[in-house]
Amino acid sequence: MFHVNASSCNGCDIELVAALTPRYDLERFGVVLVPSPRHADVLVVTGVVTPQTKDRLIRVYEQMPEPKFVIALGACALSGGVFQGCYDAGQGADSAIPVDLYIPGCPPRPEAIIYGIGQLVKKLEGKLNAS
Ligand code: SF4
Repeated sequence: MFHVNASSCNGCDIELVAALTPRYDLERFGVVLVPSPRHADVLVVTGVVTPQTKDRLIRVYEQMPEPKFVIALGACALSGGVFQGCYDAGQGADSAIPVDLYIPGCPPRPEAIIYGIGQLVKKLEGKLNAS
C-alpha cells in the first residue's frame, strides 16, 4: 500500500497511521505501507485534489504496476468534502484517477479503514473468482 496526501488537513492521515500501528494492527492482514509506488498494488489517497496535486497524483498512479487499486479515504478524497467548490480545490480523487473503493468520514476511524480494506479484498476475490 502506498499513501498519497493530495492536500489533506492530516486528519485522515493520522487515522490511517493509527490503523497501521500495533493498536489496530492492519499489518496482521498483510497490509504493509511501502516507500515507493513501484512496490504498491494499492494506492490510498487522502485530501482534496487540487490543480497542484492532480498531475502528481496521476504520475504516482502511473508508476504503480498492474494490477493496481485505489482507495479514496475521507470526505475530501471522495468528493472534495468541506472544500468542494472552492476556486482552488474541490474535487475528489476520481477526478484524476480511477477509484475502486470509497471510505467516507471526516476523518474515517481506523475501524472504518480496516473494514473498507476488507471490502476491497472481498471485491478482488470476486474478480479473481470470475476470471
Ligand atoms: S476528510 Fe476531514 S479529516 Fe480528512 S482531510 Fe478532509 S477535512 Fe481533513
